Amino acid sequence: MAWIDSHCHLDHVSFSHDLPQVLQQAHDIGIQQFIVPSVGFHQWEEQQRIQTEHSNTFHAYGVHPWFCDLHEEAHLEQLDDLLDHAIAVGECGLDFMPNKPKQDTQLWWFEAQLALAEKHDLPLIIHSVKAGDKVASCLKKHPKTRGVIHGFSGSLQQAQVFIKLGFHIAIGTRLIRANPNKTKDLVTQLPLASILLETDSPDGLGKHARNEPKEMMLVANIVAKLRRQQPEEILNICSQNTQELFNL
Ligand SMILES: [Zn+2]
Repeated sequence: MAWIDSHCHLDHVSFSHDLPQVLQQAHDIGIQQFIVPSVGFHQWEEQQRIQTEHSNTFHAYGVHPWFCDLHEEAHLEQLDDLLDHAIAVGECGLDFMPNKPKQDTQLWWFEAQLALAEKHDLPLIIHSVKAGDKVASCLKKHPKTRGVIHGFSGSLQQAQVFIKLGFHIAIGTRLIRANPNKTKDLVTQLPLASILLETDSPDGLGKHARNEPKEMMLVANIVAKLRRQQPEEILNICSQNTQELFNL
């Protein structure tokens, strides 16, 4: 089975000079499909270019909470059109860290995208930082939605709330660097059927290193060790979860 990086920003400028090589290196070790979430309208054209050039990339379209204040309502119509040919809505969500756009603005864009996910019957790729309870209460108002909480950084209990709401939990390189006990609890206590693997490339390896999809092997190895399973088994099951969720 082709293993899948469920979250990599291949449209990021840091990949503009060597994307074919980056994809080849991942492909050579078995990671052969890539889900590209969107950050906002300023990248939608670049994503469409990548989608045309690389048939093993699958694209979500949406407005990331960090960039929502750069958008106008007209962008929502444009997004609505793009979603006719997308595998998911996102990445969207809430980020209540300091120096982010106003919470009201973030909430408006999140609600609008939840409605679009329902309209197009698409899964959501959700960014949730310091906002788990609010994200959960928004999702409760849209009981038909499904998707993934990406780069999950909350507690085991919070993860279980999201799973009950029909969402998967994505584990990536960023989480592997977080508090080891918290990571261990999440990775060992959650059912594997609810876990996706991701890199969040080019982010996730700290400020000075560019993350790449091939590093998903690192995540799989750590998850495998913690769960006392084989990395191939983890990669197979999590990739199958990804394939089913996004209907690839
Ligand atoms: Zn992301």
